[in-house]
Parts: sequence; C-alpha cells; structure tokens
Amino acid sequence: MARLTLDSVTKRFDDVVAVDDVSIDIDDGEFLVLVGPSGCGKSTTLRMIAGLETVTEGDIRLGETSIARKRPKERDIAMVFQSYALYPHMTVRENMSFGLEESTDLSKDVVREQVEDAAEMLGISELLDRKPGELSGGQQQRVALGRAIVREPAVFLMDEPLSNLDAKLRAQMRTELQRIQEDLGTTTVYVTHDQTEAMTMGDRIAILDDGRLQQVGTPLEVYHKPANRFVGGFIGEPSMNFFEMEVQGDRLVRVSRSDTEGSSGQRPRDVEEFAYPLSETTREAVEGSTHVTLGIRPEDVEVRDDGGGDHHEFETVVDVVEPMGNENTVYLAFSPEREHSFVATVGGMRSIEPGQPAVARIPESAIHLFDSE
Ligand code: ADP
Repeated sequence: MARLTLDSVTKRFDDVVAVDDVSIDIDDGEFLVLVGPSGCGKSTTLRMIAGLETVTEGDIRLGETSIARKRPKERDIAMVFQSYALYPHMTVRENMSFGLEESTDLSKDVVREQVEDAAEMLGISELLDRKPGELSGGQQQRVALGRAIVREPAVFLMDEPLSNLDAKLRAQMRTELQRIQEDLGTTTVYVTHDQTEAMTMGDRIAILDDGRLQQVGTPLEVYHKPANRFVGGFIGEPSMNFFEMEVQGDRLVRVSRSDTEGSSGQRPRDVEEFAYPLSETTREAVEGSTHVTLGIRPEDVEVRDDGGGDHHEFETVVDVVEPMGNENTVYLAFSPEREHSFVATVGGMRSIEPGQPAVARIPESAIHLFDSE
C-alpha cells in the first residue's frame, strides 16, 4: 500500500521560491497529474519526491513513513525521465535489469522473469537483445518505462515522458500508459505542461502556478468548477473568455473608455460595452464586490443568426473564423468598430463568415465568476 503525502512542502533556491507550501494526498494506486506552465515548480516537486532535490521545509511521506530525508535508493520509487536516460552500450535487457540483483537480493532467474514480463506488457519482447541506438524514440520510451516497471516500486514518477514522441504516438502511448498503470495499480505522479494530457490521463489533476498549488480535483471538477481565474484559463482549449466587470446592482457592466472624440468635440468618456443581467442567486454570489471577472468557455457561448429576446443575448459581429474541421473557432466583436472581444466554438457544418452579424447567447448557467485581480 502506498499513499504518498506532500505535507506543506517548500523548496527555495536562494531567493527563488520554486515550490511554495504544497500539500497533496495521493491515494494508493492513484494516477495524479501535476500540471502547470513552464517554471511553475512541477519538476522540482517531482525531484523532491524522488530525492534528487532536498526539501527546504515540510515533509514527504510514503504511507506513514517520512521519506523526505532518505536517499533516493531507499525510497522505493522509480522515475521515468523525458530523456529516457538509457545506457547506450547496454542491451535493452541489461538496461532494464541493471543494478536490480545487487539492490534487491533477487536471483538472476527472478530478475530475468521480471524483465520478460515487463517487456511483454510493453510489446518489446523482440527487442531485448538490441541496443538503444537500434530503437525508435517510441521503443526507447518503452524501455525506460520497462526499467521502472521491473523494479516493482511503490511509486512511479514520470517527468514529461511522452514529450519527445510525435503527436500520433504520444496519443497512443497515453492510453497504453494508463492501461499499464491501472493493471499494475502503482501510485503514479506524472508531470506535464500539456493540459490535454492532464485531462485525459489523470484520475486527479493538481494545477500549479508560480510554485503554488491552485487546485486539486478530477478532470471534470477542474473543468466545471475552476477554483480561480488561473485554473479557468489554463484548463480548456480554446481558453476561457474573461471579462472584467463592474457590479452595478443587478447587472454586471463592462465599461470601456471611448478614445474617439465625438463630432461635437466631446472628451473621451466611459461607454457601456456590455451589460450582463443577474438572477437573484448570482446576485448573492457577487454581493459585497465592486468588480468581478466573468468567465465563459468558448463552447458554452451559443451563436445564432437571430435572437429570441433573451436577456443574455448580445448583438455581435463575426471578426475572424478559424475552421478546425469538425468545428469553427469564431472571434466575435460587440460592434464592427471594435476588435473582437470573445471567442466561441461553433459546429463546423454551419456557414459563418467574417463581417456577418450574429447573436451570441451567454447562458447564466454556464458563466464562472472569479474575484477580480
Ligand atoms: P517546471 O518543471 O514547472 O518547468 P521547475 O520546477 O523546473 O519548473 O522550476 C521552478 C522554478 O525554480 C523556476 O523558477 C526555476 O528557474 C527554479 N529552479 C529550478 N531548479 C533550480 C536550480 N537548481 N537552481 C535555481 N533555481 C532553480
């Protein structure tokens, strides 16, 4: 049984706080994906779990045992690197079994059996006598995985293991890795900067930004109930639309400053660009705030030719259309004079052209409200 606990873990490199007070409980057998933009502290977190980096503050436990100050070899953890880190002069079999007899008191025969079982699971049985230089990138990746599997560790750590593969192979390996992890039931922490990978692979996703944990949840939870604006914007493709809004009683109003002088020589003035009426429930949610950020996902914006008289419909103009095959990404503006201010995804069979007027409905059930920054 291997429950892995990060308890208020902090890592400082001189005055850089790379990981800032991160706590996560990873269940036995769980596949947890650590995701976030470059430099957010993912690799440092993984390297602290592996013992390749010291912990400045906090604790890391495997079950009830603290491993934060143990040497890497004593942690019962196997790591798979992005670079594969295979020995070029050794065969696949030797790469997978290297050091295993010495470190585990397993007999030669048992090690051989474990290597062959792992090779079979990964579909590389015929490659056991080849050297890494005679393998494709995808095959080398499997060997690197095989080396982790034969160690039968309590925890797998994976640092962007698929990032050197081409898109098709990467998609195939995602599914395969998930299957293997599920069959073995080994607790896994998987690092990626790719939100699609996180959404498709993780039992749960932990989202980091600037060293801080933003949210931990299932893919559906972080998608439907993002904890803050960062998570809302990071998860989902194309990214969520955001509007900075003033709270005015029962409406949210986006005010923008008009910089064109009127014919009568008026000075620039604030114009109401977009007002969003609130129901009673939503009004309660924003009570006490003067400003909020309204978020709406592109797939939740309904684009129509004509309005039906709903309060949540807005007259817009199509600015740019990006055909994506099965759907179009459509950039909409509130008026022809303005730049587009939001994005909607629209079914690919619909004919939709730049310059065309369109009615955009932003259903209240689909909006997200965040604290203003
Ligand atoms: P990620 O894996 O999310 O890209 P990292 O964990 O590699 O992020 O880095 C987090 C932060 O810590 C970054 O600001 C990075 O520059 C810094 N950092 C990482 N390793 C070191 C190091 N050995 N010395 C100094 N700063 C480091």
